[in-house]
Amino acid sequence: MADRVCIRCGGEVPEHFAPDLEVCVNCRISDVTAVEEENEEHWWYLSFADGKFLGACIVRAHGVVSASQRAWELGINPGGQVLGHIVPEGNEDLLPRNCLLTEDDVKSIMTKDELSALDERRENHASRSQTPQ
Ligand SMILES: [Zn+2]
Repeated sequence: MADRVCIRCGGEVPEHFAPDLEVCVNCRISDVTAVEEENEEHWWYLSFADGKFLGACIVRAHGVVSASQRAWELGINPGGQVLGHIVPEGNEDLLPRNCLLTEDDVKSIMTKDELSALDERRENHASRSQTPQ
């Protein structure tokens, strides 16, 4: 199949995007972050994985995609699949914010069960992200 071209910027549309999606990753991210802007701002806990744990961070954003972008801007996004949770108000001080956290950092506040629950949800997320809405 020939590469599809973004209808807005002429960039490449990834093959795994749904056939009716005619924009590239960057334009898609702009669309999603524009929508997220309308949400309330929270501290987000992001966990990154690529088959294995790559790192985590806590950043302030209006949504999970914006949070992931924020992590890129801060230079603390290690790539891979990202999974995000809103940090309940008052818990954001449990870990250092705006920096890349190691597995040991995360383990220091989470039980093993909580960590494996995160892993399961991460797998669900990985399959979902193959077909953006
Ligand atoms: Zn584009």
